[in-house]
Amino acid sequence: MTAIKAHPPVQNFINGQFDRNGQPSMDVLSPVDGSVISTIPMSGKEEVDSAVQAARAAFPSWSDMTLKERVQIFFRYRQLLEDNKDELAALVQQENGKTFDESMAEVNKSIELCEFTVSMPQIVTNEIQEVSKGVECRIERKPLGVVACITPFNFPNMVPHWTVPNALVLGNTLVLKPSELVPLSAVRMAELLKEAGLPDGVFNVVNGGKEVVEAICDHPEIKATSFVGSTRVAKIVYKRATSNLQRCVALGGAKNHLLVLPDANVDMTANNVVASMAGCAGQRCMAASVMVGVDKVQHIIDKMVLEAKEIVPGKNLGSVISKEAKERIEKYISEAEARGAKILVDGRNAIVEGKEDGFYVGPTIIDYVKPEMAVAQEEIFGPVISIIRAKDLDEAIKIENSSNYGNAAAVFTQDGGLAKKVIDKASAGMVGVNIGVPVPREPFSFGGWNESKFGVSDITGKSSVEFWTQNKKTTTKWNPEDKRDWMS
Ligand code: NAD
Repeated sequence: MTAIKAHPPVQNFINGQFDRNGQPSMDVLSPVDGSVISTIPMSGKEEVDSAVQAARAAFPSWSDMTLKERVQIFFRYRQLLEDNKDELAALVQQENGKTFDESMAEVNKSIELCEFTVSMPQIVTNEIQEVSKGVECRIERKPLGVVACITPFNFPNMVPHWTVPNALVLGNTLVLKPSELVPLSAVRMAELLKEAGLPDGVFNVVNGGKEVVEAICDHPEIKATSFVGSTRVAKIVYKRATSNLQRCVALGGAKNHLLVLPDANVDMTANNVVASMAGCAGQRCMAASVMVGVDKVQHIIDKMVLEAKEIVPGKNLGSVISKEAKERIEKYISEAEARGAKILVDGRNAIVEGKEDGFYVGPTIIDYVKPEMAVAQEEIFGPVISIIRAKDLDEAIKIENSSNYGNAAAVFTQDGGLAKKVIDKASAGMVGVNIGVPVPREPFSFGGWNESKFGVSDITGKSSVEFWTQNKKTTTKWNPEDKRDWMS
């Protein structure tokens, strides 16, 4: 367990300098033990504008460099992440509350994302063809200009790495607005990017809440904004940014269904389902939230209960983000119980010795949930799984399809034909077969369907190249003495 310690007040990072200009301040709490570990400036329009002006000034020389030159900075940055990963993981644990191993996994994923970034010269090779004799058509990818990223609390290190390295290496300059609940990882990101040689003004961080987000969506110089967070805010950001003619991709919340068939491998399925619902205290947009048990699956549920009982808050289960989150999650469990669902494992009122002021919820399994209950429909974002019993696979697919969300879905079975049916019919952007957290690894892109994502492209992988660039189409003829028309 990392020692929870106080950090210097967080400052904005604008034009290569840390700066705090007397904005009102908010405490940053560690959910591990509820202690104050720092403060952040609650910035507004003015700070967003300063960051945009710095990014705008940096754009001409940054975008003028070749892709291969820009990539060199990210080779160095990737190595700095590797060299500092113990410290970076400890920081994630302190500000977010997940376990050290989960925090390290997050930093390792950021390193993998940077490996995709440094492979960009192999991916963005442009296109050229001689379309008529002596006439060439060429397509080149060009950066957009100043862009922005808005990120949530649940992956303070990884989610900024979904977007920032790719957007920058492709020649854009950027303003990052981290979650006000977890601002510390972004400070280290700014320091390490600077140490790697990133020119001043290319990457800027503005801290705060709603006002900063609104100023980003409204800023006329920002060409594109990526957002990751709840569906409620994703809708606000998508509408506001696009109405100001920005390009926008906004990833929202989730309610992921895992369909478990009776022939599934018992140990592997129980272990995967429980790990998917309880990992990172259930605060993952890819976490299992509903298990649809098809026909006779009691033997798998019994094993899940045993697995869940091995998960202990403060030991191999981290905290949830806040007191409000703990109260919200426990309320969902109590409501389901009051409406007749059966609590097989109860995580309410979890207390960790020595960390009595931390925000803990134990693993929770709720059986005999009805599709109309709130725990079956709404995002709980805690270590809770609701089991709905279905008589056959068609009914299970119908239940999955009825969700407003569509981030992930998974099926557990040894029957390839039935698995294929779920792959085809699930209304979700990311599907797993015998995998509880089906996150596509690079170069495959990440993004959901329905109310889990607004906008055309995905947020990572090859899809991000489309999002962070625009095509320039050039037609050239280098032999003017040739009388032939270019259409010939
Ligand atoms: P959130 O929507 O509360 O906050 C996200 C960002 O929006 C933060 O930077 C926050 O400051 C800002 N914000 C909050 N309220 C706002 C408002 N009214 N107007 C403008 N901006 C506002 O999300 P969160 O609680 O930080 O993160 C958890 C959510 O993120 C969950 O719903 C989870 O599923 C989702 N998430 C989704 C993905 C995905 O890939 N789809 C990934 C990670 C997290």
